[in-house]
Amino acid sequence: MRRVYLDYASTTPVDERVVEAMLPYFTEKYGNPTSFYSFGQEAKAAVEEARAKVAELINASSEEIIFTSGGTEACNLAIKGFALKNKNKGKHIVVSKIEHFAVLEACRWLEKQGFEVSYLDVDEYGLVKPETLEGAIKSDTILAIINHANNEIGTIEPIKELAEVAQDKGVAFFSDACISNGQVEIDVEELGVDLLAMSAHKMYGPKGIGALFVARGTRLEPMFHGGGQERKLRSGTENVPGIVGFGKAAEIAKKEMKGEAERLTKLRDELIKEVLKIPRTRLNGHPKQRLPGNANFAFAFIEGEGLILELDFEGISASTGSACSSPTLEPSHVLTAIGLSHAEAHGSLRVTLGRFSTREDVQRLLEVLPRVVKRLRDISPFKDSFEDYVEGTEWKGGEHCHV
Ligand SMILES: *Cc1c(COP(=O)(O)O)cnc(C)c1O
Repeated sequence: MRRVYLDYASTTPVDERVVEAMLPYFTEKYGNPTSFYSFGQEAKAAVEEARAKVAELINASSEEIIFTSGGTEACNLAIKGFALKNKNKGKHIVVSKIEHFAVLEACRWLEKQGFEVSYLDVDEYGLVKPETLEGAIKSDTILAIINHANNEIGTIEPIKELAEVAQDKGVAFFSDACISNGQVEIDVEELGVDLLAMSAHKMYGPKGIGALFVARGTRLEPMFHGGGQERKLRSGTENVPGIVGFGKAAEIAKKEMKGEAERLTKLRDELIKEVLKIPRTRLNGHPKQRLPGNANFAFAFIEGEGLILELDFEGISASTGSACSSPTLEPSHVLTAIGLSHAEAHGSLRVTLGRFSTREDVQRLLEVLPRVVKRLRDISPFKDSFEDYVEGTEWKGGEHCHV
């Protein structure tokens, strides 16, 4: 059976050009960048070349790029590093409710250390309104945090306006761009952000490598202490093959991003148009201001996990905002923040396309999905309420996770 991967927001395959660039750094070019002899200097040169490429993609300078073990570490370094270094100026942080757990859990940890965190509401599309941010900033606020784009619903935030609000109030601004970097253009100068997190494996690079953009003059407390690598902000021998791979991925993105975004936007819109023909189906997230490859749907009367399993049987990999198997049975915090009921959130499906997605992949999904949705609805314990259901009203099917 042909396997169809439609979960690029979870991770991407590594581009073969990236693999090729990395290989010599496992074998003949294995030096430690801190060594002064030629083996070391060869590795150091490769790291610096990659740093320049990662910087160029977001219009930063090389000195502003700190390599980390991935997006999670970059988010932790940004949030905890900034808070701990600047706590004498204030202990209040504002953050949107729809962040990745790498951000939310770092904030929760800071709360336990005596910081105060305000969680900002978003509108029905997942957008943070500049007024909401402005209203939450107090005299002791030091940091504002809003994701560049959301990894579940794909909504792209108005970061330039939001960062301007923060800047006017003397508050630093961190944006998690792990899911959007390499997919849409990001210019840190233009956006006016102080900190920005990136992850290589969401943009056809390897897993386990990421970076934090730290604008000149922004001071952080390091999380790791040791040999003083990465401007003393991230000690530890550099992941040279990973960094080289990230650099290559950034170079490719720089060249191909624009054309690729156009292709994926077209494919995505075709997909959305067709899927919305299935009755009682809604699109989650912003209709236009969203990542090129992201589509997220809510199907009434369906269990998202059942949908994922059925699709997997047909060779299709996609993702859901449902988490019935998690101990808490909590649905996605992002879907509930945009106003979905628990039942609606549990019936959601995220389809994400990327560099190697084809029209055939989308057609395969469109062939299978209506049939699977119908079958699941036919066996749903809420079948009766489905028949009584009036189009346009909100469905509150209850906690059907338990049944
Ligand atoms: C994937 C992702 C992360 C975490 O990055 P890792 O490299 O997997 O640690 C953080 N934020 C967002 C928005 C992501 O999509």
